[in-house]
Amino acid sequence: MERMKELIALLNRYAKEYYELDNPTVSDMEYDALYYELVELEKEYGTLPDSPTHRIGGAPLKEFIPYKHKLKLYSLDKAKGDEELEAYFLRLEKMLGFIPEMTVEHKFDGLTLSITYKGGELVTASTRGDGTTGETVTAQVKTIRSVPLTIPYKGEIEIQGEGLMRLSSLRKYNETASVPLKNARNGVAGAIRNLDPKITAKRNLDFVAYNVGYCSENIFNSQTEVHDFLIKNGFLCDDVFSVVNTVDEAKKAINKIEENRQNLDFLIDGAVLKVNKLNLREELGFTEKFPRWALAYKFEAEEVTTLLKDVVWQVSRTRKLNPLAVLEPVELMGVTVKRATLNNFSDIQKKGIKLNSRVFIRRSNDVIPEITGLAELTPESKDINKPEVCPACGAPVKEEGAFLYCTNPEKCAPAIVATLDHFAQKSCMDIDGFSEKTAELLYNEFGIKYPYQLYDLKPEDLMKLDGFKQKKAQNLINGIEKSKEVTLDRFIFALGIPTIGKKTATQLADAFGSIEKLKTATAEELCKLDDFGGVMAENVVKFFSEQENTEQIEKLFERGVKVINTENKEGIFSGKNVVLTGSLSHYTRSVAADLIKKNGGKVSDSVSKSVNLVIAGEAAGSKLEKARKLGTEIWDEAKFVEMLSKTGN
Ligand code: AMP
Ligand code: ZN
Repeated sequence: MERMKELIALLNRYAKEYYELDNPTVSDMEYDALYYELVELEKEYGTLPDSPTHRIGGAPLKEFIPYKHKLKLYSLDKAKGDEELEAYFLRLEKMLGFIPEMTVEHKFDGLTLSITYKGGELVTASTRGDGTTGETVTAQVKTIRSVPLTIPYKGEIEIQGEGLMRLSSLRKYNETASVPLKNARNGVAGAIRNLDPKITAKRNLDFVAYNVGYCSENIFNSQTEVHDFLIKNGFLCDDVFSVVNTVDEAKKAINKIEENRQNLDFLIDGAVLKVNKLNLREELGFTEKFPRWALAYKFEAEEVTTLLKDVVWQVSRTRKLNPLAVLEPVELMGVTVKRATLNNFSDIQKKGIKLNSRVFIRRSNDVIPEITGLAELTPESKDINKPEVCPACGAPVKEEGAFLYCTNPEKCAPAIVATLDHFAQKSCMDIDGFSEKTAELLYNEFGIKYPYQLYDLKPEDLMKLDGFKQKKAQNLINGIEKSKEVTLDRFIFALGIPTIGKKTATQLADAFGSIEKLKTATAEELCKLDDFGGVMAENVVKFFSEQENTEQIEKLFERGVKVINTENKEGIFSGKNVVLTGSLSHYTRSVAADLIKKNGGKVSDSVSKSVNLVIAGEAAGSKLEKARKLGTEIWDEAKFVEMLSKTGN
């Protein structure tokens, strides 16, 4: 028995390190050996309540056994927008005579669960059901690692919270699943309301505790105390939990939650406000359906369903064919969505998405929303065809990995237009007055295909273009002229080497210092850079080995393009790694970064030990704090401007 307790303590510690802290201290093999030893002992002496063997799920159940909740699980009154929130605060003030202290929490969007502990052991777990009666799902819930099997508190207590599937777990699960899950909410509901607890175990769910229902003792005076109790008893709790005293404070807290919504690893559909003090809750009581002391403030739906009407294939700069979904217009988080991305053809097949089917769409951080899965087929649903030829130029299509490419070497119009547009964009040559429309006109009217040709343009040429009068033409010519002096990182990015983005271009500039050095870099050298994969290294080597590309670069140089190499560059920032933070008033961020590079420095995104200088503008936040902690040299904007003025900038 002693050995069993020892094993359990060890295994639980290792599991915590592995699953929660992401920092294992033993190998899988060592873990398995200890686990097996425990299983053998349990065969003889029985299973202890906090044994990790409860987590694997056990035998499938025949049916769900109804579970009657000791205290009803209520639904929440809803509000949307400032007006309804203000009205709720007015109601509270009317009933109580003052505005009470309120707590603000995430409104988690998963499956509500109630878990009962007696004598410190988990005895039952159930779903909410209709609020009065739910289903017993004890074996399923025990597989969730963030549900403690034993707790220090020894009375009888119902813990309420939400079963969740993290978005990262959903992604990981879908990578190998034969039938992918539609979304995290379905993922958690399907896993728990499933008779086979082994399936639950595989989904890697989480549980966030936010309430106490029935409790055999009267030990709480407020939601804050409940929250602290839950943390002390080993539950995962809401990390944004806060207390507010006015409607303005409530709005601020809610806004903060909403702004950060896209960064969360789990779904929320709003914020929950609760009167903090329990004695006031008693005074307020319940309506038929809701407690009067709580409110669910709902956000716009993050995911909606709509009809997929068509799929068009767009040709990108690298001649990759990207499927773009044409949708029945639908409101999503305050905007009307008509188009969404679909990744690639094999993704379409895997998700079972068809034309004229209903699909889930979701706003991510990107501008264009994404189709996450199939919601429902309709009688008109039909397969999406894989294109055989490029929709833009008719050249045959070739497959590379999951992607399709147009094989036309040079005459595919959208790829050319995108190349010119990329070359001119802000993070590349930064040509003022240039747009995608300009690229289209230049290709269509003059057959301009290569970036170097931009430097041969004359104002009188431009004035032949639709919409170009003298002033506009001259502005563009000035923009082109000004772009000739360019920092190395921008120039590398402008070359449009496949898979080399803005960040990796900067890395290459820092590591090699000049185009001449980069040209001769080997794949081995490139692979040594952080986050540089084999494909990226190969692409760089391949790019510079193709004569056509080096000729293009030469032609740019012949026309006066001058790259400011960072190699051995003498200047006030020589050998310095600089971070910009806060808002600057004298320069934009990108101009400031360019000035640092032109004066020999390197610019990084985040503060670390390898950073030598932080330039802090107005309202600088965590980066400045970190710099202070590390003792990094810090300049304010005035000092930055002064130092630059000495260099003549
Ligand atoms: P609804 O089902 O839309 O009426 O909303 C009520 C549900 O919100 C309850 O069943 C709770 O399970 C759920 N909920 C999510 N997060 C919280 C939270 N922080 N506090 C209370 N309830 C929550
Ligand atoms: Zn093409």
